Amino acid sequence: MMRNGLSVDVEEWFQVGAFERTIARDDWDDLESRVGHNTGAVLDLFAEAGVKATFFTLGWVAERHPALMRRIVAEGHELASHGWDHRRVFTMDAEAFRADLRRARGVLEDAGGIAITGYRAPSFSIDRRTPWAHRVLAEEGYAYSSSVAPIAHDHYGWPDAPKRAWRPVADAGLIELPITLASLAGRKVVTGGGFFRLLPAAITHAAIAQANGEARPAVFYFHPWDMDPGQPRVANAPLRSKLRHYSRLGAMAGKLRGLVRRHEWGRVDQVVAAEREKLS
Ligand SMILES: [Zn+2]
Repeated sequence: MMRNGLSVDVEEWFQVGAFERTIARDDWDDLESRVGHNTGAVLDLFAEAGVKATFFTLGWVAERHPALMRRIVAEGHELASHGWDHRRVFTMDAEAFRADLRRARGVLEDAGGIAITGYRAPSFSIDRRTPWAHRVLAEEGYAYSSSVAPIAHDHYGWPDAPKRAWRPVADAGLIELPITLASLAGRKVVTGGGFFRLLPAAITHAAIAQANGEARPAVFYFHPWDMDPGQPRVANAPLRSKLRHYSRLGAMAGKLRGLVRRHEWGRVDQVVAAEREKLS
């Protein structure tokens, strides 16, 4: 069996694109923090299943939860960067992106006591609008990025980007390992997050089987808040955002247990290392 990348984007329930017009960054520190409890539940589930994963974590979260960062590392998982405060890459220029990467990495490395070599852009926001982004990541010493959704979607996507691991910068070793796509009624969706929560698990199983059949490792992702039915409800968010964010939170843990049993999983840096061999 082929090893696939299991990943968690570690952020608070309010640090999501769906609520960015409803909840201001300035108010974040006044909201109930649930990321420690929720990520702890994810770590418990992975320990019980005997799987290792990559935790792409916001610097903002690492600064407030250093003990959680130490636990992620101590339990054999990869700690990696999800940027500082969930600003999407296409809203920044190259120098702002570099500053965001450095600020996050400093805090993650201090808290985790390890080197950070992996990065995932918030909301898969590296696309045609950010032709400088991979070069900045290479210059900052990252080994890989898992930041591209090779898809046409209303909020994100780089439709003509490769679906397998590739080298986005000609003279650098940086590898981009894109998120795997699933098919839903003729449309493509990313594998994980709200789609995994809302749709039958069979769609995800089929996507992973198809990728592995084409000798591509799959990359799957979710958020700690995807498993948290007790999170506060944002009353004045758009209805469509609320439907996506709150449906079937209680079913998530059981679906995840089924998913991790069914396929071979590992840390994203391990998957990238195996792909690097094939590319060279
Ligand atoms: Zn995120």
